[in-house]
Amino acid sequence: MRTCRNLWAAIAVAVLATACATAGAGPPSPKAPKNAIRLFDGKDASAWTMRNGGGECKWIIDNGELQVNVGTGDILTKRKFKDYQLHVEFKIPLMPEAHSQGRGNSGVYNHGLYEIQVLDSFNNDTYAKGGCGAIYGQKDPDKNMAKPPEQWQTYDITFHAPRFDAAGKVTANPRITVYWNGVMVHNNVAITGPTTASLGGPMTPEGPIMLQDHGAKVRYRNVWIVAR
Ligand code: MG
Repeated sequence: MRTCRNLWAAIAVAVLATACATAGAGPPSPKAPKNAIRLFDGKDASAWTMRNGGGECKWIIDNGELQVNVGTGDILTKRKFKDYQLHVEFKIPLMPEAHSQGRGNSGVYNHGLYEIQVLDSFNNDTYAKGGCGAIYGQKDPDKNMAKPPEQWQTYDITFHAPRFDAAGKVTANPRITVYWNGVMVHNNVAITGPTTASLGGPMTPEGPIMLQDHGAKVRYRNVWIVAR
């Protein structure tokens, strides 16, 4: 009887430990850890350069936010990263006159190649794999976590770079986990290749973070990354 009781106690401890481990695997805090690189802290956009022509970031810093300067093009980090954890906060403007891909479009490109779409998907239909939170053209988010425009939203992205053999052949595709507003919407998903309007070219061992100018005055704040 005692053995039986001990067995049940052991099982209970194991179940509890598993539950605690699962609870601990939630989305990271928006607060940058000590080892984070701040890509935009509200004042300084010097981590970024223009996709077209390089040089200083021409996007607009206002009220501690970095706003797409429509028509200047995408921005990318000067530094390249391999594996990382990325935190991005974004706010989509109210664009009632616009529809589908025209409403609040921007994007977060991992390695400059793989876009997690930014779009007003609160009350705005678009085509499959093109809405907010999608790995653009490849996979919809598991849930639509869209908030209304003019509200801050978050992406917490864990990115695993592709792996290569000595000859440079891809042995493992990149993989991505995305929390959108605190809810996991992609769980360690293999990315099949570069997405539309990316830097293009083959997969690379490391690459920049790129933010998209797609004609909407989307704002970003508190952007940080922990390189792995
Ligand atoms: Mg986009």
